[in-house]
Amino acid sequence: TRILGIEGTAWAASAAVFDAGSDDVFIESDAYQPDSGGIHPREASEHMHDAVPRVVERALDHARETHDGPATESPVDAVAFSRGPGLGPCLRVVGTAARALSQALDVPLVGVNHMVAHLEIGRHTADFESPVCLNASGANAHLLAYRNGRYRVLGETMDTGVGNAIDKFTRHVGWSHPGGPKVEAAAEDGRYVDLPYVVKGMDFSFSGIMSAAKQRYDDDVPVDDICYSLQETIFGMLTEVSERALSLTGSDELVLGGGVGQNARLREMLQEMCDQRGAAFHAPEPRFLRDNAGMIAVLGAKMYDAGDTLALEDSRVDPDFRPDQVPVTWRRDEPE
Ligand code: ATP
Repeated sequence: TRILGIEGTAWAASAAVFDAGSDDVFIESDAYQPDSGGIHPREASEHMHDAVPRVVERALDHARETHDGPATESPVDAVAFSRGPGLGPCLRVVGTAARALSQALDVPLVGVNHMVAHLEIGRHTADFESPVCLNASGANAHLLAYRNGRYRVLGETMDTGVGNAIDKFTRHVGWSHPGGPKVEAAAEDGRYVDLPYVVKGMDFSFSGIMSAAKQRYDDDVPVDDICYSLQETIFGMLTEVSERALSLTGSDELVLGGGVGQNARLREMLQEMCDQRGAAFHAPEPRFLRDNAGMIAVLGAKMYDAGDTLALEDSRVDPDFRPDQVPVTWRRDEPE
């Protein structure tokens, strides 16, 4: 099976070709970089307009170059695209491109949930059976585990996504987007200052921590100390809830997903927690953690093989597409 994947939920215009036979994933991405402030939905969708055709063309070139069949045959078996969650104007550009390509190539369309793709790329690259997944991305933060045909949300943020929370603090400080890597660098020289730690049952909240962090900054607390403490607090919370999710499900596998998963301190905390309880931990390589079409193509292949394709008239995008809305067709034959 060979699948063309297209991603464009927020900032990354990305296209990929996954070849299930060789397990090769070719990814071509073009990132939107705001001039100032955070991601602006209209500017981001203009970026998609501009960049999606370009990245798709490169991915298709690659598919054609590596295709064995006759030149008249489509070099891919299906077109998979991110249906949501994400910014509506961006998703609509990607949806339109995917529909047009599936018609032009005369292959089926596969509609992929972006958050489930963050999870499945971890399961795929680790070869794990049934892991708990911590999705630590820009606009989201939640724990997922499989049960009775769906990925259940075991715990989640009660307000903003984890990356967006960090980015809000760095905007306050005047640093350019994205803020996560800058916080990570500044944290190296920091010392701990008190910040609120907010975990309620399996859910968690970032807004109080962010207000406190901004306040500390306005009170002239050194920014390195705030960055260090932000990481220790936020990642400590995510690690605590991940541990509880492992304990609740009885799973001994944890995978990490999302752009914040590129952070070395978060990975270190999760690794240590897993080591202590004898669980296996896997963080996919960075190109699969941040938004990318590779994960869309990989899950697209599993869905395609399960016959889970979309009719054109049912292919509307969904900015609020939750992972627990997705029937997990590709794991149907597994024991519960
Ligand atoms: P979603 O997948 O929820 O739609 P998204 O589209 O915003 O989220 P991702 O690519 O998953 O995107 O994550 C981007 C986020 O990752 C940004 O908020 C950025 O600040 C954060 N990030 C990137 N690198 C790091 C890092 N080293 N440490 C912490 N955060 C990071």
